[in-house]
Amino acid sequence: MNTKLHGGCLYGDIKYLVNDSFSKLYIYHCKQCKNITGSSFASNIFIEEKHLEWLNDKEEVVIYKDPNIDFTKVFCKICGSGLPFLTSDHSRYIIPAGSLSDEPAQIENANIFCQEISAWETRINSAIKSRPFPE
Ligand SMILES: [Zn+2]
Repeated sequence: MNTKLHGGCLYGDIKYLVNDSFSKLYIYHCKQCKNITGSSFASNIFIEEKHLEWLNDKEEVVIYKDPNIDFTKVFCKICGSGLPFLTSDHSRYIIPAGSLSDEPAQIENANIFCQEISAWETRINSAIKSRPFPE
């Protein structure tokens, strides 16, 4: 039996279901992923195209294809949330892990493009930890 995980955008107008049959979660530390997420890394899961099902139409989906490099970002035009998109050969979806609402049962993390890790990223694990914004 295949467990299904829910995913979608923050606003909730775009939703999908995906089989919980992932193997790796790739954490991209490259400069373009920092730019496109506005954060320290992107986190993506690959899955065969047949394992993802959209639950509504995708009128609000925007596709950005960089004109200079092989780089795509798909997001909701209402809330800006990153969303799954097909690889150029349409065989697999690339799913931004943060778009999942449910936790995958089993997944192994892999850091990639580690030569582009910023100095401030290396200090994340030693940063103060608090529930609300720190005083
Ligand atoms: Zn949205």
